[in-house]
Amino acid sequence: MAAGWNGDHVSRGIRKGGKISLEAFMENYDPSVLPNETYLLYEIKWSSSKKAWQNCCHNTLIEHAEIYFLEDVFKKQRSDPSDHCSITWYMSWSPCGDCCRAIRRFLKEQPNVNLVIYVARLYLHKEEHNRQGLQSLVNIGVSIRVMDLPAYSYCWRTFVNDEDKDEDDYWPRHFAPWIMLYSLELQSILQNIPSCLEISTGENQTPVFSLCVEDDQQKRALTSTNPR
Ligand SMILES: [Zn+2]
Repeated sequence: MAAGWNGDHVSRGIRKGGKISLEAFMENYDPSVLPNETYLLYEIKWSSSKKAWQNCCHNTLIEHAEIYFLEDVFKKQRSDPSDHCSITWYMSWSPCGDCCRAIRRFLKEQPNVNLVIYVARLYLHKEEHNRQGLQSLVNIGVSIRVMDLPAYSYCWRTFVNDEDKDEDDYWPRHFAPWIMLYSLELQSILQNIPSCLEISTGENQTPVFSLCVEDDQQKRALTSTNPR
């Protein structure tokens, strides 16, 4: 663990100028593995300004990255509360149930803010508290999507530290199966039907992902609308 990891939200893998290191991006946004940390790449756009504010943070042992954003980052950036604001998050893990509650409270206090959340993977996706948290965010107008290839490409261009990049052409096609599995699971969460994604730990701690569709009703629900 790097120094400052316990208390600092912008230490490990985050460079000066608010960029994420290539290594931290590759490690934390690969949906086929299950890292312990949560990274949050964010973009804030104000209606009064053409320029978007982009930066990164991660969780600490005592505070989740989302709470740091809501309580520290946003408050420092906000000047005029009547100014409309669009926030986009690119998260390595989806928000937990507790963070979803904090996000709801925040959006209630900030009616001029709209929030779009991209997630590389779903955090403890079988826990009802987390499933209901995500549903409740969508119910109040938050958009939640699994990161697709264009989103990876955008994050690569926008947030990864320039000096670390060997080539600009980043296209992680091999993520496609995991993107599909997580998209179907997100759909099951938002449609309030049983979970369809099983993740078990195989040999050498390698996670094994499988799709488990129990009955025709679940199958119909999952294929009724295209997840993308
Ligand atoms: Zn959380």
